[in-house]
Amino acid sequence: DAQARADARVTPMMEQYIEIKTANPDCLLFYRMGDFYEMFFQDAETASRALGIVLTKRGKHQGLDIPMCGVPIERADEYLHRLIALGHRVAVCEQLEDPAEAKKRGGKSVVKRDVVRLVTPGTLTEDSLLDSRRNNFLAAIVRAKPSASGEEARFALACLDISTGEFRLTECDRTRLASEIARVEPGEVIVSDALYEDTEVAPFLRTLPAVTPLGRDVFDGASAERRLTSYFAVATSEAFGTFSRLELTAAAACITYVERTQLGKRPPLSPPTREALGATLLIDAATRANLELMRTLGGERRGSLVAAIDRTVTAAGSRLLAQRIAAPLTDPAAIDRRLDAVASFTSESTIRSIVRDRLAAAPDLARSLARIVLARGGPRDLAAIRDGLGAAADLGVRLGSATMPDEIAEAVANLRSPDPALQAMLSTALADELPLQKRDGGFVRPGYEAALDEARALRDESRRVIAALQARYAEETGLRALKIRHNNVLGYFVEVTAQNAERLMTPPFNATFIHRQTLAGQVRFTSTELGALEAKIASAADRALGLELDIFERLVAAVVDAADAVKAAARALAVVDVASSLAAVAVECRFVRPEVDSGLAFCIEGGRHPVVEQAIAVEGGSFVANDSDLSPPSAKASGRIAVVTGPNMAGKSTYLRQNALIVVLAQAGSFVPATRARLGVVDRLFSRVGAADDLARGRSTFMVEMVETAAILNQAGERSLVILDEIGRGTATYDGLSIAWAAIEHLHDRNRCRALFATHFHELTALANKLDRLFNITVRVKEWHGDVVFLHEVVSGAADRSYGIQVAKLAGLPPAVIERAKHVLGVLEAEDRTSPARKLVDDLPLFAARPVPAPKAADPRAEAVLKKLAEIDPDDMSPREALEALYALRQAA
Ligand code: ADP
Repeated sequence: DAQARADARVTPMMEQYIEIKTANPDCLLFYRMGDFYEMFFQDAETASRALGIVLTKRGKHQGLDIPMCGVPIERADEYLHRLIALGHRVAVCEQLEDPAEAKKRGGKSVVKRDVVRLVTPGTLTEDSLLDSRRNNFLAAIVRAKPSASGEEARFALACLDISTGEFRLTECDRTRLASEIARVEPGEVIVSDALYEDTEVAPFLRTLPAVTPLGRDVFDGASAERRLTSYFAVATSEAFGTFSRLELTAAAACITYVERTQLGKRPPLSPPTREALGATLLIDAATRANLELMRTLGGERRGSLVAAIDRTVTAAGSRLLAQRIAAPLTDPAAIDRRLDAVASFTSESTIRSIVRDRLAAAPDLARSLARIVLARGGPRDLAAIRDGLGAAADLGVRLGSATMPDEIAEAVANLRSPDPALQAMLSTALADELPLQKRDGGFVRPGYEAALDEARALRDESRRVIAALQARYAEETGLRALKIRHNNVLGYFVEVTAQNAERLMTPPFNATFIHRQTLAGQVRFTSTELGALEAKIASAADRALGLELDIFERLVAAVVDAADAVKAAARALAVVDVASSLAAVAVECRFVRPEVDSGLAFCIEGGRHPVVEQAIAVEGGSFVANDSDLSPPSAKASGRIAVVTGPNMAGKSTYLRQNALIVVLAQAGSFVPATRARLGVVDRLFSRVGAADDLARGRSTFMVEMVETAAILNQAGERSLVILDEIGRGTATYDGLSIAWAAIEHLHDRNRCRALFATHFHELTALANKLDRLFNITVRVKEWHGDVVFLHEVVSGAADRSYGIQVAKLAGLPPAVIERAKHVLGVLEAEDRTSPARKLVDDLPLFAARPVPAPKAADPRAEAVLKKLAEIDPDDMSPREALEALYALRQAA
């Protein structure tokens, strides 16, 4: 039981581990031990399962084996990435001193360790953990309890990207909150424990990928202002503008969480800016998904609007473009400002290509800056600042020589704002080839600092002296194979083969060589001279690295000092990238500048769907451009509603979506795929297209459709644009028709919005006689030899029929089914068309239950053929047997 007592003892290291783990109970603890991060106990079990790494054990705790697993530090990022993606949080615990220090203290002293950062999905900075083309926002949601009953609850939302410094605030209602979250797609959302449990908000929060509930102190309104002003070192938050108490609370929650996760280090944040309500086009989550703005319904970027128009050459440009597409503006003047910037690059193809070449060489300034300020940067981040500032200064000069529209002129000023001395300093200090980590050394350019050159020379010189010593020893001993080698355990040593070792162990050589180690084939020695040389080399190398690290810190300090100017330059590079890339896509894809004003017009000539057009072009086809005009019929009237009919596959959805996408592009400040576009700004965009079961939330297709339709009918206003594709399809014909009918009347008389309404119910076209701002359009098709040919051309009027059977034939339905369907259709059409469809359906037995009508068989040959035919079971035959049967039938006939 001496063993048992030993087992029960807690080692000093375990004691330290348990203490740190206890302080971070909700995180997996990455506990640094030498070249590994180790995990113990439950953490080890969780991580080994999540990462598929080996679970071992190390020592005992209270008599039981301690489960352990580890990841090597050089692969830590990769494992962190996977753990974060799985929803874990990780506390990274580092060694805070050289293990030699701990040894010096003697006895049971363990290396000092502590957590240096918490890694959570919303607070990442490493390139390897981030998508360079997307922002990664941390969002805080707070709610103010309504003061009067019946009043709607108010929310404030703060969004912060620590990897780029962007920081935005909004106050909004519940609907807007959901649409903002859908737009920003935060990597992590923080809420108070109370809100997390709240019955009204919890169901919504459950739909988000990473929600972290936190204690109420983080969401304390009374201390919010103080926490915020202390972070930014300003006297009052009014320095940034006027914010409501609710907004300040959300902002302070973000700040406090950043300080907690970064353990007090302060990333270079921009002061918060308020997003005015109504400044951006409101697009709800369903519409956003349906229109495939950022990704397709299948979840891929390829095939989305943003992928189709993204010609940016920098990561920051790509992020800014995505932000703009996600949040189109509603102020015509602001939209024009952006369009002016694009226009300045569409006419000048040389400037455009020069600018884009220069931009392409600019690295991701913002993210390198964030890492540097958080003391997580390496030599390559400094190089990124050097190259980014170089590109910025150069572009500033090139663009500064011409008169530019406001947005570009402002960018030029920011491109020129960083002090050129910083870039010059980085250029002279940094070497051409840079290591990933500063601890690897060798990143300072030779000639930059005399003391460093000296230490390096000494180090390299000593290495030459070692080579000379090896030659001398070989000569003196007569052992030509004698080598001086190095490893981490012994340091430098003399190595000879086992046969020759004896010689060194006998006089006179045993006076020089001291035996160190005998291996199977070799024996190793040292000598006083070699030991002295080794010490000299080690100290020169240490000294060189120490000097390099000092220089590194000086460069970092200079960058940190210039952080604001660097950030402004980074942002300006992104602005120029977006403007010039939108110009590039406009030229390449024949987009025009839209005319956007505060009226209610909606007049598009030669409009195209930017994504479908590109897809068709790849296959060598050409897209048919179509007009649309929903403008009010007279000066005082509201906009119009178009009822779009036409067979399946004619191009109705494409037409509907292209009109919505043109609005998004125009208001985001892009040229649009049309020959002319005149738009009165849209304030809310609604779409109900396609149908996807939301089974995860227990809703049928029809239920989803009705919930979305309800949202539209309850919210759309005169400035809205509504796109409805085949509502009422998911239920019995008469139900569906009635709902669609009533919905159109509501849109026309109550919402008074501009709308496009695609439908299968031809009956709805009759509404045009009754509602004065309603008109019918149809996508033309031609019938040719019993087949349908799609012309994709939108014309005024209603479709005469739906061509469902022809489309089914195109889709490859078996010929027998097609023939049968034609027959059934004939019966239906022969009956009174106004009789209830339900009756028709009931009266008409399913075709499978009814025998195929037999031709009158008076002829014995026909009898024989029929008999043979009846014996055939096509499902049971190979193609070859079927062919043979066919020949046999032919013969019998
Ligand atoms: P619907 O909604 O009427 O069933 P879609 O809009 O889905 O039809 O269009 C079907 C297909 O027709 C599209 O995938 C596209 O390839 C093609 N198409 C649609 N509109 C056009 C057009 N204007 N020009 C060329 N092809 C088009």
